[in-house]
Amino acid sequence: MNLKEYVRVIEDFPEPGIRFKDITTLLRDKAAFRYAIDQLAERAQGLKIDHVVGPEARGFVIGAPLAYALGVGFVPIRKPGKLPSETLNRTYDLEYGKDGLEIHKDAIVPGERVLIVDDLLATGGTIRTTIELVSQLQGTVVGLAFLIELGYLKGRDTLEGYPIQTLITYA
Ligand code: AMP
Repeated sequence: MNLKEYVRVIEDFPEPGIRFKDITTLLRDKAAFRYAIDQLAERAQGLKIDHVVGPEARGFVIGAPLAYALGVGFVPIRKPGKLPSETLNRTYDLEYGKDGLEIHKDAIVPGERVLIVDDLLATGGTIRTTIELVSQLQGTVVGLAFLIELGYLKGRDTLEGYPIQTLITYA
């Protein structure tokens, strides 16, 4: 199955010059959605994962069914102020200004093996921050998995040392 055919590209969203990769068209197709999750699950075989960790919101949509398929738990990473228990927080630079991400402090036990999942790898900022949060809780990041990689933004180069799986690439 050619998954790229199920991604809708929207020009100039959310701002001029951005070619937005809309995965809602892939998610609504039962065969494409199942195929995508199955492919990611297959590539995660043998990693001996304890948890899938995914940032909101599209990291939930891909990460939760992947965790289910792998028979492991799911840990959410959220924007500040959304998680109800004690959290660890990190801020990171955006093109304009700053953003933050949080994880529950007790979500990862030291030594646990984690697969980090998101819908799309762009600059890698979101994932680097997620890696930092997991690492600060002494989890071991054993892999990174994405539906889509925007190769031209070279996010991969900033994530050296971590095995990366992507199903769809835009060079
Ligand atoms: P980054 O932190 O730069 O790797 O950005 C990754 C996040 O931004 C992903 O979770 C995507 O959901 C979103 N994103 C960035 N660029 C795009 C794009 N061109 N199309 C769709 N989503 C994007």
